[in-house]
Amino acid sequence: MKLPRFDYAAPATLAEAIALLARGNAKALAGGQSLIPTMAFRLAAPAMLVDLARIPGLDKIQIDENGVKLGARVRWRDIERDARLKSAHPLLVAAIAQVAHYQIRNRGTVGGSLAHADPAAELPGIAVTCDAEILISGSRGKRIVRAGQFFTGPLSTVLADDELITEVRLPAWPANRRWGFEELARRRGDFAMAGVAAFYDADEEGKARNAHIGVIGACSKPHRIAQAEAALNGRVVDAAAIQAAARAAEKALEPPGDLHASAAYRRSLAGTLLERVLGGAR
Ligand SMILES: Cc1cc2nc3c(=O)[nH]c(=O)nc-3n(C[C@H](O)[C@H](O)[C@H](O)COP(=O)(O)OP(=O)(O)OC[C@H]3O[C@@H](n4cnc5c(N)ncnc54)[C@H](O)[C@@H]3O)c2cc1C
Repeated sequence: MKLPRFDYAAPATLAEAIALLARGNAKALAGGQSLIPTMAFRLAAPAMLVDLARIPGLDKIQIDENGVKLGARVRWRDIERDARLKSAHPLLVAAIAQVAHYQIRNRGTVGGSLAHADPAAELPGIAVTCDAEILISGSRGKRIVRAGQFFTGPLSTVLADDELITEVRLPAWPANRRWGFEELARRRGDFAMAGVAAFYDADEEGKARNAHIGVIGACSKPHRIAQAEAALNGRVVDAAAIQAAARAAEKALEPPGDLHASAAYRRSLAGTLLERVLGGAR
């Protein structure tokens, strides 16, 4: 289907982009991989698209002792090709490897994915699991929102119409951290029916500390499962601890049922994926 009519602007600065958005009925355009199909299906009909392509500084990946900073216009392909990230944030790399297909990976961006807020998308799940910070600029200035507070439901966030994501910051990744990511999709590259990201740090006695367990695709937004984290913290991660965490996760989740999978299937899938993640944690 042809797109509805719209005006197009490609501002050269962030301030200009925000001013255009503040006029109303405008949408930021990043990779276009979610926005353009949404417009084609007439689910959105903004009067203006504000292309972020010319704004400098949004396409950088920075790594230092505080962690990883991904500019809003960093693409999945950029993450995949940055060899430093394999040690700086292996969980991010493993999760992003599951995103979509080749063509979409060449265009889809960090900021677009966070703003689009699909409950099954990988990056929002990693951001929530890792307590990432999302940097936002708008007409009223800048703010930083924790990923856990950023997503408010399916395809909705705390972003105002005149706000743009500029960066996401993932805290530093200790070298001895144990982690894993698993998801199940009907076909490779499709959105997952459910996915689980998890990590923990092992203390001198080999017991798990600081467990972070996040789920995608099994709820209205990505979120951490506190009950599963509590079941793991303070225990040696053996078969009994893994079972306890997986059953706690299943009990805590209230997934939706849809044409792809029933609620019961998704709940069970999330538990099984968590077992696999913890059983294979590197
Ligand atoms: C067939 C298909 C399969 C896919 N499979 C997956 C998958 O498995 N996993 C996955 O995670 N994703 C998947 N995607 C989505 C893909 O990763 C998208 O590219 C991504 O979600 C949106 O990024 P974008 O840069 O294309 O954003 P756009 O489509 O340009 O924009 C999406 C939304 O974000 C807003 N926006 C963009 N940038 C900003 C910003 N900096 N600040 C504020 N708002 C902004 C736009 O206004 C729009 O509302 C799939 C898409 C398709 C078409």
